[in-house]
Amino acid sequence: MPLYAILLPCFSLVSTMKPQTDNSKERPPVVVVMGHIDHGKSTLLDYIRKTNIVAEEAGGITQRLSAYEVEHTTKDGAKKRITFLDTPGHEAFQSMRSRGAQVADIAILVVSAEDGVKAQTIEALKTIRESSIPYLVAINKIDKPSADVERAKRELVAHEIYLEGQGGTIPWVPISAKTGVGVDELLDVALLAAELEELRGNPEIQAEGVVIEATIDTKKGVSATLIIKNGTLKSGDFVIAGNAFAPVRIMENFLGKNIKQASFSSPVRVIGFSSAPAVGSSFKTVATKKEAEAQVALALREKASVEQIIEEVENQITLPVIIKADALGAVDAIEHELMKLPQERVRIRIVQRGVGSISEGDAKLASGSSNSIILGFNVGIDARAKEVAERNGITIAMFDIIYKIHDWFAQVIAERAPKFKGEEVLGSAKIMKVFSAAKGVMLLGGKVEKGKLSEGDQVRLVRRELEVGRGHIVSLQQGKSSVRKVEEGNEFGAQVKTNSEPAPGDTIESFIVVEK
Ligand code: GDP
Repeated sequence: MPLYAILLPCFSLVSTMKPQTDNSKERPPVVVVMGHIDHGKSTLLDYIRKTNIVAEEAGGITQRLSAYEVEHTTKDGAKKRITFLDTPGHEAFQSMRSRGAQVADIAILVVSAEDGVKAQTIEALKTIRESSIPYLVAINKIDKPSADVERAKRELVAHEIYLEGQGGTIPWVPISAKTGVGVDELLDVALLAAELEELRGNPEIQAEGVVIEATIDTKKGVSATLIIKNGTLKSGDFVIAGNAFAPVRIMENFLGKNIKQASFSSPVRVIGFSSAPAVGSSFKTVATKKEAEAQVALALREKASVEQIIEEVENQITLPVIIKADALGAVDAIEHELMKLPQERVRIRIVQRGVGSISEGDAKLASGSSNSIILGFNVGIDARAKEVAERNGITIAMFDIIYKIHDWFAQVIAERAPKFKGEEVLGSAKIMKVFSAAKGVMLLGGKVEKGKLSEGDQVRLVRRELEVGRGHIVSLQQGKSSVRKVEEGNEFGAQVKTNSEPAPGDTIESFIVVEK
């Protein structure tokens, strides 16, 4: 073998690995604010935005994206950037999390000093813990006369939020989001928590990150807000998220200013996606359109066949569901409604979700299974989509009120749930004597211990709790007379047609088959 044939693969391996490690830099944290409603999340986000956005940047432009960047001067005089997700409420964050992408690095749990720990405080905490990110607590509204910081602290500790100074390590800062007291310190502490995480990124690699928002505009087309978690995004690149992609031609920062490049942890809006990418999906970047198209084709192929997605479970059918709505918030809400439905015998699998009218592509995807259902909410349906769905017997249902979807779907589940057959025991008797009669017919003597036996009943023979045979009762006798049935406590003689060989001591059970 010539030497270069050995050297070449080694060389290319080294050259692709190198930039990852050598050029990494400290990365600003992405922070999410969570907590109970009315505890002051939006007020805090507003205060931070107003006081920390670099003045010349802000210059009259209003924030356009659901995330913003600030520069904070720490008490040591260092200037540090922080990105805030401006999506208060844990539901949005949870829906991002449900797609597996880790968008936030640090969480701030806001708790009102007036109200203390409430239901959504605990829910938020659960979400934070599940995503394994560090968090700090902001005890808010300390300017209010009825604020009681000590009580809030006790309640937090009672809910296993072990605060610093209370035997734990969770940092906490008393603040007033309204007057701004304590907010600087809160940002200092958040940056300290970030430092401990050693967040790093490499500006020289192609950008990757998370989609946090997608919108459809009739004039501008589909745009998405991205948070860059690593690398640099540049004009001329192609962004891919799932099966949606966009050339990076029109890119804006969070203030709506056109920019040519952005790096971690900046939020940017990229306009011109081929379709709406899923909120919470991760994105990556490639250099050419050809590469982008190839990757999208691969992503499409992976989900092309609904049959492949469905694993059959006994006594359970899967309903592949495609959700199309006018806004991603509605898609999330519909998905949430569907997940509330019972799924013992029918499993709902969302195979596609998105914003916009029901397209031919949706109908084709659904055609993989005749069980598929396409749900449209405040959207239209393309003529070709209708045709394809009709041809393949796919159900399309259109709605304009979300709660109606729940009721309609519950009905569908009731209709489509597989009925399975079960056996219900009607009576059981102990066998005391056995005589063989004609071939395959046994004469038994016994006593009914539970329920009753009737002529014609199907029976099974049970020995030491194991079924040893089956058959049916041809005729019954009590004393010397023929009877139709024998009730509990009575002795009887029976002719039973069976191929097995019952023995004294066995149990004979009569049963019927029921559909449930
Ligand atoms: P969210 O639902 O958690 O986003 O709560 P908001 O930020 O909307 O706040 C709910 C109410 O509490 C609003 O009327 C705010 O003005 C008020 N509020 C929030 N933070 C403070 C605070 O620190 N002090 C006082 N006095 N009021 C506050």
